[in-house]
Amino acid sequence: MALREIRIDGDPVLEKVCKPVKEMTPRLKELVDDMLETMYDANGVGLAAPQVGVLRRIVVIDVGDGPYVLVNPEIIEKDGEQTGQEGCLSVPGKYGIVTRPMHVRAKALDKDMKEYEIDAEGLFARAVCHELDHLDGKMYTELVEDGLHSYDDEPEEEENE
Ligand code: ZN
Repeated sequence: MALREIRIDGDPVLEKVCKPVKEMTPRLKELVDDMLETMYDANGVGLAAPQVGVLRRIVVIDVGDGPYVLVNPEIIEKDGEQTGQEGCLSVPGKYGIVTRPMHVRAKALDKDMKEYEIDAEGLFARAVCHELDHLDGKMYTELVEDGLHSYDDEPEEEENE
């Protein structure tokens, strides 16, 4: 496992649409491991492959209840609404207020290409929406309701996706 370089907003790789994974190759397995290591190292709760420069539909998420690996993920249900702070490892030091569904149901393949579904609520649902947007080249900064804010004045630690 190795840390990968996190691409920063403005890098064209973050604006591209990712391709589906057809086969879980050893190289992609290594990518998944590296993404998890990179996410934990950066104290994030989610990371999408394009954030480390790979245009594949893979995201990793851990909001505190263990890592989830989502390959070719799709949201199949969403309901409710939540408005709150959101950040991104590709936009360091910033956060914004974004409205997302309170609950999403998603289907994805796991690391062994087995299909499974997740029910995500609250922060988990926010992370799923945020990371899946990355796979379509979309950044949360397009959705912020009141501009971007800086963490500089805030002593407490915030979560990044
Ligand atoms: Zn992000």
